[in-house]
Amino acid sequence: MPKQDSSKTKDNKLTSRRDFLRSAGNYTVASLSGAAMLLSDPKPAKANVTWEEHFQKNYRLMTDEEKQEAIERLETRYSEEYGKQVTVDGTPSIEGVLFGYALNIQKCIGCRRCVKACVAENNQSRGDEQQIEWIRVLRMEKGKFSEADRDQHGYPESFGVQVGGNAYKPAGVVLEGQHYYEPEQVPEKDAFYFPMQCMQCEKPPCVKVCPVRTTYRDPDGIVVIDYNWCIGCRMCIGACPYWARRFNWGEPNLPKEEMNPVTHYLGNRPRMKGVVEKCSFCVQRTRKGRWTACVEVCPVGARKFGNLLDPNSEIRKVLAKKKVFRLRADLNTYPKFFYYMD
Ligand code: SF4
Ligand code: SF4
Repeated sequence: MPKQDSSKTKDNKLTSRRDFLRSAGNYTVASLSGAAMLLSDPKPAKANVTWEEHFQKNYRLMTDEEKQEAIERLETRYSEEYGKQVTVDGTPSIEGVLFGYALNIQKCIGCRRCVKACVAENNQSRGDEQQIEWIRVLRMEKGKFSEADRDQHGYPESFGVQVGGNAYKPAGVVLEGQHYYEPEQVPEKDAFYFPMQCMQCEKPPCVKVCPVRTTYRDPDGIVVIDYNWCIGCRMCIGACPYWARRFNWGEPNLPKEEMNPVTHYLGNRPRMKGVVEKCSFCVQRTRKGRWTACVEVCPVGARKFGNLLDPNSEIRKVLAKKKVFRLRADLNTYPKFFYYMD
């Protein structure tokens, strides 16, 4: 089973913002003048860039020039670190676009190709020590429902828990999902599958709780994170009702040869230890008019994506014609990620 919460030591690690702030009090005049020398020395580019990154503004407060400088610094550093030409895009929201997503839960076969494509596209950490996946596919058991079952029986015995009462909803579904399932073949006869990722809420609780306002909602509806300002407090993880955010407990493991060099500042650029990340609707693709990686790879066409403000878009047709629901609608988070049935 992949682990998320084990740390990993690396020789070549950058100091995180938190580490830096913690140790800032120990800086002496001598060390600061040493740093000033470093800044004037073009040789150790990595140290220069790291120092400047520590002092840059929150991305959404930067001027266009400051954004461009920050992007160029990162492009230089990433290209050196990964041994290939890395681009960092800063394309902002497009006027008149509000992105939305719809997923046909009747069609999903639980193959998890979307998960793999997302990991590859978005430079998530991989390997045994810290595997991060933005999409989770839950395997749900198909169940028969009767009121007698609900009131008198509780959980089925095979779950090993008997609490009586409330494990069922009138839809006839056992409210238990398996995150890690390894069948020989999918889809399985007695299961259906329920993929989840960031819902890009219209009223995102994660934004509300972030003490440094490093996560925010862009005008196209994508909830983004400026990784440089994340202090790793994980308030957003606690606030998100959809289990959408992941924390880098250790230094992310992103093999050079597998790194996707086409990145966006607010999306799939390499992350650092101690910061939170999540699905960004593939901002590096979608702001350029492309599908998300998961939409592109889904073998059964269960995933739809588009502009909610365009009445002729496929997503609007899905919302108009299908049986649509949103997850935890009672919370008033207004997800822009919809589930539907034919
Ligand atoms: S962990 Fe979450 S809440 Fe805390 S600073 Fe980072 S984005 Fe904000
Ligand atoms: S699903 Fe979670 S992470 Fe995404 S916007 Fe809503 S609260 Fe934030």
